[in-house]
Amino acid sequence: MIRYIWILSFGTNNLWYSWIKAYHLKNSNLWEAKTPCTCSWNWRKLLHLRPLVRLIIQHYIGNGSSTSLWFNNWHPDGPLLLKWSPRVVYDSGLPIHVTVSSIVHGDSWSWSAAMSIDLFEIKSHMPSYNPNSNVNDRACWLHSSNGTYSASSTLASLRTPHPFVPWFKLVWFPQNIPRMSFILWVAIRGRLSTQDRIYKYDPMAVTTCVLCNTHPESHAHPFFECLFSRAIWTQLMNIYGSPWNGLCWNAFIDWASTHCRGNSPTIIANKLCLGVAVESVCRLLPAHLVLVRWTS
Ligand SMILES: [Zn+2]
Repeated sequence: MIRYIWILSFGTNNLWYSWIKAYHLKNSNLWEAKTPCTCSWNWRKLLHLRPLVRLIIQHYIGNGSSTSLWFNNWHPDGPLLLKWSPRVVYDSGLPIHVTVSSIVHGDSWSWSAAMSIDLFEIKSHMPSYNPNSNVNDRACWLHSSNGTYSASSTLASLRTPHPFVPWFKLVWFPQNIPRMSFILWVAIRGRLSTQDRIYKYDPMAVTTCVLCNTHPESHAHPFFECLFSRAIWTQLMNIYGSPWNGLCWNAFIDWASTHCRGNSPTIIANKLCLGVAVESVCRLLPAHLVLVRWTS
């Protein structure tokens, strides 16, 4: 969706852009267009995203003929009508839909005499470069290295970066089955609806493990403190010739994150084995009912 705002901000010669200009924008500017009461979800969403990207698109002035004087982000202080009131338009004596070319004379800036303090401030903070009447204006996506829009650079700029968790490669790798990855991720995050969590909002819930029917069902118990699941896990580990070391769940994830590194067939098989074991245990738990809703 943001990519479409990028395209609309500097214009192009395709049918979609021409249709948007004729049907939605008509004679108004993208940045001033009001959200209609009745319009498509796409158009409404696009208009709502404008504040998010407006300052990311920087216009560099050549001849000024394709950049809006009042609405586009070309001035060092940002879009002029974002900082100053519409009164400054009146003070300048210029129409509201005029382009930057109206203040370009040859290769220099040419404002009319300042009629207000606001206009004087605008004139005193002009870009450090001079316009060039021989080249066209250029739009630059500030968050990418080459100045053009890319989804990856946009995502990187919008999200809050966090360090990778040690078990990242244990869960997310190309050969894994998405359902297994998801269930293992939920289990590692401790978000399975085990009986001890259900008991917090349902005091009538039975908290005994449904697998062994002897111990309370906490999150760590089914993986692999429970006698039932421990037996399954021990047999799986024996198949791969690696005796089960009997760690608790959190310690086991730390151990597996350290020892299951690389892309060798053995490592991939071990990680798949873990995903299958966790998914198989989950199938037997009441939590599986919740997972079925999430993953189906
Ligand atoms: Zn049990």
